[in-house]
Amino acid sequence: MKGKSAVVIGSGVAGLATACRLAASGMEVLVFEQNSYPGGKLSAFEKDGFVFDAGPSLFTQPQNLEELFKQCGKRLSDYLTYDRVPVSNHYFFESGKKVRAFANADEFASEMESVLGESRKAVLDYLSHSERLYNNIGTLFLNKSLHKFGTWASADVVRAIGSLQLKYLNSTLDEFNRSKFKTPEAVQIFNRFATYNGSSPFKTPAMLSLIPHLEINEGTFYPKGGMISITNAMFKLASDLGVKFKFNCPVEKIHEKDGTIVGVTADNLRYDADLVVSNMDVYYTYKFLLGENHRAQKVLQQERSSSAVIFYWGMGTEFPELDLHNIFFSRDYLKEFEGIFRTGKISDDPTVYVNITSKMEQGLSPKGKENWFVMINAPAHTGQSWQDVKLALRETVVSKLSRMLGRDIGSLIETEETLDPHLIQQRTSSHMGSLYGTSSNSPFSAFLRHKNFSRRLTGLYFCGGSVHPGGGIPLCLKSASIVSELVSKDLSV
Ligand SMILES: Cc1cc2nc3c(=O)[nH]c(=O)nc-3n(C[C@H](O)[C@H](O)[C@H](O)COP(=O)(O)OP(=O)(O)OC[C@H]3O[C@@H](n4cnc5c(N)ncnc54)[C@H](O)[C@@H]3O)c2cc1C
Repeated sequence: MKGKSAVVIGSGVAGLATACRLAASGMEVLVFEQNSYPGGKLSAFEKDGFVFDAGPSLFTQPQNLEELFKQCGKRLSDYLTYDRVPVSNHYFFESGKKVRAFANADEFASEMESVLGESRKAVLDYLSHSERLYNNIGTLFLNKSLHKFGTWASADVVRAIGSLQLKYLNSTLDEFNRSKFKTPEAVQIFNRFATYNGSSPFKTPAMLSLIPHLEINEGTFYPKGGMISITNAMFKLASDLGVKFKFNCPVEKIHEKDGTIVGVTADNLRYDADLVVSNMDVYYTYKFLLGENHRAQKVLQQERSSSAVIFYWGMGTEFPELDLHNIFFSRDYLKEFEGIFRTGKISDDPTVYVNITSKMEQGLSPKGKENWFVMINAPAHTGQSWQDVKLALRETVVSKLSRMLGRDIGSLIETEETLDPHLIQQRTSSHMGSLYGTSSNSPFSAFLRHKNFSRRLTGLYFCGGSVHPGGGIPLCLKSASIVSELVSKDLSV
């Protein structure tokens, strides 16, 4: 693809990965980023000696990064190192029960039996099922464009469809989990996996029971330096491959001539290109960069994923009972998701996730202190007054954590920042502040996500959380791989 030029709009994880792949194939690549920094949601900041990852905290499937670097002729270990985390999550229930989710099926099943009285066999059977579902169906549907004939014609896909049982589509994850486990705690633990892509376990199909395989069987990982190291590694790779960046430079328009992409306008200047890849939310791409409101509205026919409120707390002491990932469950999960997806309100007893990277290495918080990333799933932004919501929510969360940890949490917070759905929308142009683009709250969501290319405009491609295969770092990286494959096929014709 030598001699061809590409513009990438946005330097989120998918934009960076796409830029690297195209540059490695010989193209001249220019990335426009409206912010002053790369990474989009995958960014970080420092306050009063505490370093906080701003967005993603859970790192799964590092093989996607390994493959990206290899494809670009480099070794990931020269840019980023990471370790497998022995306990993926610590679950806390209001009853006082605590479950450690070991990243090892046997150990996890034993823990579930000894703490909850859940059958070891039920847990092991579920995890085997999850692995089979992921390997038979998940991998195929996540690695290819679903909108190209060639994908459907392959023998693997025909086999995958053959093994697709109706129950995975026509029963919800919650119904499926209740049929597999006898204890409400086990059901809640396995229901939580719907939040991996911002969906509700009471709406999303049982197909999402393939996700626990990633966390428990494959495991979760910690990148040295925190999640921001992933952005830093990809940004360095892109720079090493000759990708050029323009920061503080939002693209304002995509240009076409007779149905073929010819370039973009950014900062009032015109830039020519043979192709354009938009890492911007596909809704905004249509609405603002192409001026095609009807297509933008079509995108909105699919429900947006959940959003989140985050409190970044610098804590003045250490909590030996906590680990890297900690989840404090609500008493009523159904009510919580009704709030997120129906009434647009956060429940008065939300599930609270606390991530503490200073547990993993020194230097991310002052000695004897901890950097807490406290996340509460929230409805998409539809005009709520987030300042008021955060005030009330802070009180609820402080009181919940104080009760469940037996310490006065409020008095230990030394420094604070917050993030909310409206800010997420403003900072990364993610419509309604959605974390993962669209939700998977309908059986056909996977098939309805926007494709990775435009049928109408030759040379226009889409990557990132708002298009196929969806949100979250692993899937965003897969979207980059799909786009670069499409580009290479299109240009070789
Ligand atoms: C609080 C939070 C927690 C999360 N937790 C996890 C987690 O634990 N694990 C996980 O895997 N995922 C998690 N996610 C989801 C994950 O962060 C996203 O799916 C992923 O980072 C999205 O990447 P992206 O490539 O779609 O781009 P984004 O990160 O959305 O970035 C898009 C970029 O495009 C830029 N841009 C937009 N419009 C323009 C324009 N016109 N011109 C120039 N630049 C433009 C934006 O400024 C931005 O930098 C979380 C997200 C959030 C917010």
